[in-house]
Amino acid sequence: MRVSVEEIIQRTIAKVNSELRKLSLAIHDNPEVALKEVKACKLLTDYLETKRYKVERNVGGLNTAFIASYTSPAGNKGLNIGFCSEYDALPHIGHGCGHNLIAVSGIAMLLAISEVLDKCSIPGTVKLFGTPAEEAIGGKIIMQQQGVFEGTDILMMVHPSQGYSGSWHSQCSLSMVVEYFGKASHAAMAPWEGINAGSAATIAMQTIGVLREQFKPEWRAHGIIAVGGQVANAIPDYSRIEYTVRAGNTDDLKIIRDRVLKCFKAAALVTGCTHKVKEEYAYLDNQDNPVLGRMYEGLMREMYNVPLFPNAGGSTDFGNLSHNYITLHGMYDLADTGVPNHSKQFTEDARTEAAHERTMFAAEAISRIAARCLVDQDFWDSVKRAYCNKLA
Ligand SMILES: [Zn+2]
Ligand SMILES: [Zn+2]
Repeated sequence: MRVSVEEIIQRTIAKVNSELRKLSLAIHDNPEVALKEVKACKLLTDYLETKRYKVERNVGGLNTAFIASYTSPAGNKGLNIGFCSEYDALPHIGHGCGHNLIAVSGIAMLLAISEVLDKCSIPGTVKLFGTPAEEAIGGKIIMQQQGVFEGTDILMMVHPSQGYSGSWHSQCSLSMVVEYFGKASHAAMAPWEGINAGSAATIAMQTIGVLREQFKPEWRAHGIIAVGGQVANAIPDYSRIEYTVRAGNTDDLKIIRDRVLKCFKAAALVTGCTHKVKEEYAYLDNQDNPVLGRMYEGLMREMYNVPLFPNAGGSTDFGNLSHNYITLHGMYDLADTGVPNHSKQFTEDARTEAAHERTMFAAEAISRIAARCLVDQDFWDSVKRAYCNKLA
């Protein structure tokens, strides 16, 4: 009896379900922040090697990035399909974005499509990209700059959230570090001799707060005073702000960036401090391929009868890939509770059995989409057409 592609996918994922659950829990119990995901990376790559994958480590100059790949026995002439895993945690919050689940979803999809290539004798290659530092720095941006994704026809991943969506238009974001330099002095004996860098940081935050009145609804500006001073009885001669601005598109991001930079400058001017701004990583808005997105949403409705999730805020370094590749960033509901990502409750929810099962069915849906790209030429042509229309 001929087994369908859907059955191959479903059986392959079911077979490793409990192993992936163990991996996910091990990563959850040992949260590691951006570029420090050493144990998570080892757990994942060691596991992939037990499944006989060729694993390349230290990819793109990042020691916690990896690629695992498999080429069909029918040859590599067909599509080159890529999936992304993430595995970094948040400082103090742990896996409050559920990247332990994303980590194992990537393995599930890699295994499923390897099996499809194998069993159906379809030419092609499948790769899993281990992409560190999504929450800070943007590992995928660095990997993209290093040409790691070149030759890939399609890139897909899943992410836990508060609902299901195959059309998440995330925000562009830019992170900045601002330093103020003043002059220290005794805060009681000779405060007039000091130049207060802590005050500059406070004024900068307040000025942006006032500016906020004129923001468009999707604009965001948020940050912290990472260093406000050193001791209470001295005028602080140094302060540091870490700040992020976000907007719906790159043109708006430039407007909000320029205005915030003026706020930083104004705070220096009024206090007499000097200041230095370092612009760090910029995440672009995510643009899911509409044909892939519709199929994902259709599968979610058909398989699980779940409500779709209206677009909301947030950013991802996967957005940068969506500007150069055919992509899908499938969102799925973590816990039915509406609890937001980056909260302690989300961290707890990300280790439940139910969350793991939802991750597995999201991975199954994405695998079914990848398989359709491999076996249905008309479908793949329509995906490519949608991509070209976006570029036009
Ligand atoms: Zn995340
Ligand atoms: Zn996150």
